[in-house]
Amino acid sequence: MKNQKTSDVVNTFLKIVQIDSPTGFEQGMSKEVKNYLDKIGLKTKIDKNGNVIAFLEGNKKLEPYMLNAHLDTVEPGRGIKPKIINGWIKSSGKTILGADNKTAVAAILETIRKIVSEKSDLQKRHPLEIVFTTSEESGNYGAAKLDYSKIKSKLGYSFDVSSVNLGDIMVSAPFYNRIDIEIIGKSGHAKDPEKAVNVLPIFAKVITKLKIGRISKYTLSNIGIVKIGEAVNSIPGNAIVVGEVRSTVEKELNVVTNEIVKKFKQEVTKSKAKVTVKITRENGGYKFEKDDEFVIKTVKVVESFGLKPKLIDSFGCADANIFAEHGIKMLSVADGSQSAHTFDERIKVSDLERLSSLIYELVNN
Ligand SMILES: [Zn+2]
Repeated sequence: MKNQKTSDVVNTFLKIVQIDSPTGFEQGMSKEVKNYLDKIGLKTKIDKNGNVIAFLEGNKKLEPYMLNAHLDTVEPGRGIKPKIINGWIKSSGKTILGADNKTAVAAILETIRKIVSEKSDLQKRHPLEIVFTTSEESGNYGAAKLDYSKIKSKLGYSFDVSSVNLGDIMVSAPFYNRIDIEIIGKSGHAKDPEKAVNVLPIFAKVITKLKIGRISKYTLSNIGIVKIGEAVNSIPGNAIVVGEVRSTVEKELNVVTNEIVKKFKQEVTKSKAKVTVKITRENGGYKFEKDDEFVIKTVKVVESFGLKPKLIDSFGCADANIFAEHGIKMLSVADGSQSAHTFDERIKVSDLERLSSLIYELVNN
């Protein structure tokens, strides 16, 4: 589908949403994006995980910025047929649209094209490190495997916030711990309870003592998986419990994680069972203060488009969390897309165009 009346960024978007790229199958997108950047004269590399990395020089006295979007989509994301209806770009209704995150991919590509073709003032522009990642939707593996020795930026922008207004700014994302607990008792036949160590009452006692859900303004916890028991006539001798804690305050993350573990250990030691615990720090988090210079500058630029950006605290995890773990603080600016991961996913033509102008201003200020 190509419409001569549509702008360059919209044409790019319509083209790339038709390149299938569910997580793990991003090769076509990696190539397309590399070709685009190569053609406009950037040195571009695809790493062994399919991430596309390019550099654009700017004023060396200005701080380099990373610009990031992810190349993968969720399913059903194959054979996407975009259409424009009343100023909105939508899918056929049988697939997602892929606006998450191809709105940002198209807008970044258009920004770079514009900068290069206009020969915009190098002195005004921040040096740019452009990183398109794979596998964001499933484990952030592209970002996790990036070679950070090659990245200089300590600040950056991603555009991976859906279902809020264009230009709203995500200023925090949580640190995240996964907790794997196993209570090891002894199973036995229901007719011989004395020979067994039943883990069910132990688990039941712990769970009544745990605070789960919202712990504070900054911290959430959840027990998401519990597996106990094998058969109706068998006394459960083993419990698998998997939970998580997410917090925008690292100290609180650790306090709440330790509290959960402590409750399990306390209860198990009163019994004949044993317990094993594994805590996995899945990703780092970050929090920008309202008076942070980078936030103030970003708000100003967004406001210059007549928008009133809201500052959003998020409890979701994305590539930005992985970057945070490597010392790069990202502001994620909402791309204007709505209803990500659904058949109703959509983006306004005018918002897509405004997003690319917005990115242009963010990197030239
Ligand atoms: Zn996304």
